[in-house]
Amino acid sequence: MSIFNTLGRRSILQAGFGAFALAALGPARLWANPVFRSNPFTLGVASGDPLPDGVVLWTRLAPEPLGEHGGMPMLAVEVDWQVAEDRSFTRIVREGVELARPELGHSVHVEVGGLRPARPYFYRFFLKGGEASVIGRTKTAPALGSSLQSARIASVGCQHYESGFFTAYKHLANEDNVDLVFHYGDYIYEGRGGTGGGSETGGPRSMARQHVGQEIYSIEDYRRRYAQYKMDADLQAAHASAPFVMSYDDHEIDNDWASAYDQDGVPEHIFQLRKFAALQAWYENLPVRIGQFPKGGMVKLYRNLDYGDLLRIHVLDTRAYRSQQLCDARAKNPCRAQDDAKATMLGQAQESWLNESLGNNSRWNFLAQQIMFSPYDLRKEGATEPWTSSDDWIGYPAARERLKKSISDRSLTNVVIGTGNSHRHTVAHVPVNDSELEGPALAVEFMSSSISSSGDSDVNWTGQETTMRNNPHMKLMELQRGYQIYDVTPSLWTTHVKVMEYVGKPGGKISTLAKYAVEPTRSVIEKV
Ligand code: FE
Repeated sequence: MSIFNTLGRRSILQAGFGAFALAALGPARLWANPVFRSNPFTLGVASGDPLPDGVVLWTRLAPEPLGEHGGMPMLAVEVDWQVAEDRSFTRIVREGVELARPELGHSVHVEVGGLRPARPYFYRFFLKGGEASVIGRTKTAPALGSSLQSARIASVGCQHYESGFFTAYKHLANEDNVDLVFHYGDYIYEGRGGTGGGSETGGPRSMARQHVGQEIYSIEDYRRRYAQYKMDADLQAAHASAPFVMSYDDHEIDNDWASAYDQDGVPEHIFQLRKFAALQAWYENLPVRIGQFPKGGMVKLYRNLDYGDLLRIHVLDTRAYRSQQLCDARAKNPCRAQDDAKATMLGQAQESWLNESLGNNSRWNFLAQQIMFSPYDLRKEGATEPWTSSDDWIGYPAARERLKKSISDRSLTNVVIGTGNSHRHTVAHVPVNDSELEGPALAVEFMSSSISSSGDSDVNWTGQETTMRNNPHMKLMELQRGYQIYDVTPSLWTTHVKVMEYVGKPGGKISTLAKYAVEPTRSVIEKV
């Protein structure tokens, strides 16, 4: 039964639905004394986008996560929050009240300031009736420009619910001293329930558990899909363990979308409505700041975060401003010339911003983005034609060259590109010239595999030998599920490639498949 049904006439009157009472209450229609049949903090807590003096804290009230409106009445609810220096909350340093509004799916975003740099904090939410959330741990960024000896970053994404369990997140939550988690996107998948997750190598579709409902289009559809994902205890544990830096890729809206275009040729003005709904739900369900509040069907996703003098993180948006793919998978759109200089991946404003953002004195530049930047050829053994995807940077050659020029014009040797999307671990040099794959490198790229997407269907992949032969600039390609951990110091960037034993059932173990190191003075990857 919905909590809505428990709201009697008396409590409605008490809540002040009359016009005069509304004026007295201010702009929000408030449910002043909420009574819940069960704890409404079913979707956990999260924090994100650390600054030296604070983070954004997140939760969302949903006593019945998959029910209509998450089981909430269409009234605002006051949610108390606290930030403390210790897990037992004996040293509370900040506290306040924030409204969970029906307009925003009863989500709560608190931008906490006034904290001290580079230290862990603990936070929780609670209601007047006494219901409390779990306790989350977060960590502020170091002071701007301060001398920093190390940072530990995780890179995660591609978490198809039907493809597998999120056990990798449980392991991530147990990693020591993670400063922040970069999420490269595909936090949800939009497909209808029961179709399973696709394989990367022609293996069977994986079906470990099932999406509720059909393909998602409306705001309520997207909210319910997020709710289903966010009920996962392992995902909640990861969010409660460290701040996330969120982005999105394609499946938060629709497979392979590009600016105003979806993959099915739906008229732009109609696809725009779906984007509005999807981006609103993205904002509502994730620990992002007001700077990422959707406006006019757009989110300003690209932004940078600094970690002392050690690291600048440039979060990129490779979806919202890009030209349509060169040729789409179903060949509805004509191909354009390879040298089409107008074709863009980032759009002009973001391109200029990135060029400026790369002008800094940080020891490292981390391009936190979604899709493969390095050249590649994934043809199978015996195939005569190269195999690439027009959805990747390689499908936007002129835009790709412009970003390479941005790096080379500044003579940067410290650029690490973080990537996801392809459901595999890849470790690659980005060659100065694509025609000399074994020649000098301009940057390095670490592609993190999926948390669950593609399931266990690709585990027996045997294409390594062919792939390594055709891609001599790569050090690794591996199709097991997992994530990556980056240990960053002034003299060395070390990437830990973490792989899951299996994800098709709960309980898979994690292990370190390999470690790779790079120095900031030369883009050369060494296996360590
Ligand atoms: Fe994906």
